[in-house]
Amino acid sequence: MTEDDLRDLYQEVILDHGRRPRNFRRLDAPDASARGNNPLCGDRIEVFVKTDAEGRITDAAFEGKGCAISTASASLMTEIVKGKTAEEAKALGAAFREMATGGCPHCEAALEDDFDRLRVLSGVAEYPSRVKCATLAWHTLGAALDHAAEEVRTE
Ligand code: ZN
Repeated sequence: MTEDDLRDLYQEVILDHGRRPRNFRRLDAPDASARGNNPLCGDRIEVFVKTDAEGRITDAAFEGKGCAISTASASLMTEIVKGKTAEEAKALGAAFREMATGGCPHCEAALEDDFDRLRVLSGVAEYPSRVKCATLAWHTLGAALDHAAEEVRTE
């Protein structure tokens, strides 16, 4: 596969998830939720998470309005974090943010099995104004999970 073929494939995945986002719904009685806003582009999302007693994410979903990149990133994220612990999900988010800013020599190892799926968004590193579109969902998920942890601690 040539560079151009790869680029087209990535573009296709982003357009597909942007047009038909997965897990695009509210969750009833989520264990954690947070709103994210990227004023640079106008992307606004709300992320919902359900976790089990061990802190493992059993369901993740989102709602909102945004560009194809922010929607595709949120869609991929909600699929990828299911079954992960909050800590694992936050570590993935950190590695993804590094990949999206183009400064991550060890992302492939850090993202493990999810590298191939998340790599479709790595092209934003060439477009600094779009980096926030790609990382918004992960920032918002991190905020939701941190807040959930706080609530657990105060119980
Ligand atoms: Zn955007």
